[in-house]
Amino acid sequence: MDIELKKKNANEVLKRLRKAYPVTGPFVEGSNPLELVVGTALSAQCTDVRVNAVTKELFKKYKTARDYADADQATLEKEIYSTGFYRNKAKNLRGMGKVLVERFGGEVPDTLEGLLTLPGVSNKTAYIVLAKVFGKLEGVAVDTHVFRLVPRLGWSDAKTAEKMSRELSKIFPKKSYQLMNEYLITHGRAVCSPRNPKCGECVLADICPSTCKMKNNGSGKNL
Ligand code: SF4
Repeated sequence: MDIELKKKNANEVLKRLRKAYPVTGPFVEGSNPLELVVGTALSAQCTDVRVNAVTKELFKKYKTARDYADADQATLEKEIYSTGFYRNKAKNLRGMGKVLVERFGGEVPDTLEGLLTLPGVSNKTAYIVLAKVFGKLEGVAVDTHVFRLVPRLGWSDAKTAEKMSRELSKIFPKKSYQLMNEYLITHGRAVCSPRNPKCGECVLADICPSTCKMKNNGSGKNL
């Protein structure tokens, strides 16, 4: 597919997914920039539902960057244990708190460069925080769902999330960066699952280049 065809196809995909999913999500929740950064950082290799269950309690105790900076490693590990990779995540949250206190006056920075200096904050996290908290659409957040759906849709074969994000940013208009992330995640969970995509009931079946390769009877079981 050349770039113009990809743009046309992407526009149609977005249109159809918007219609198919009047409500998207669930996604990581946070009522302020710090909570959203923490929640998104915890979502690596973990479901958003699980993260929200953990942060519901966590945010009652940790309210400022200083709280994370001063946190006890072992205690924090226990508190975020069920999100997986808890040692590294706890270390990153404490490091994040320290950097926020020392370099940003305890506030979450509103620039990509600033966010990327925080331990545990990837491009994906930074793009989500910038879009949701500061209304800045600076890039397409590529998480595991986006990473596996995009090659199926024929938009990119990039082997890294960063490269894929750059390629997607040429296909989608800036205003759709965050929306496409949310729709693809929702579609990936509901229909286009990793092993048994339900192509037979997919609203994209006639425009998805992978639909033939993944023929199934609509039940999700490949034939
Ligand atoms: S047609 Fe199949 S492979 Fe393509 S997006 Fe739909 S479920 Fe996924």
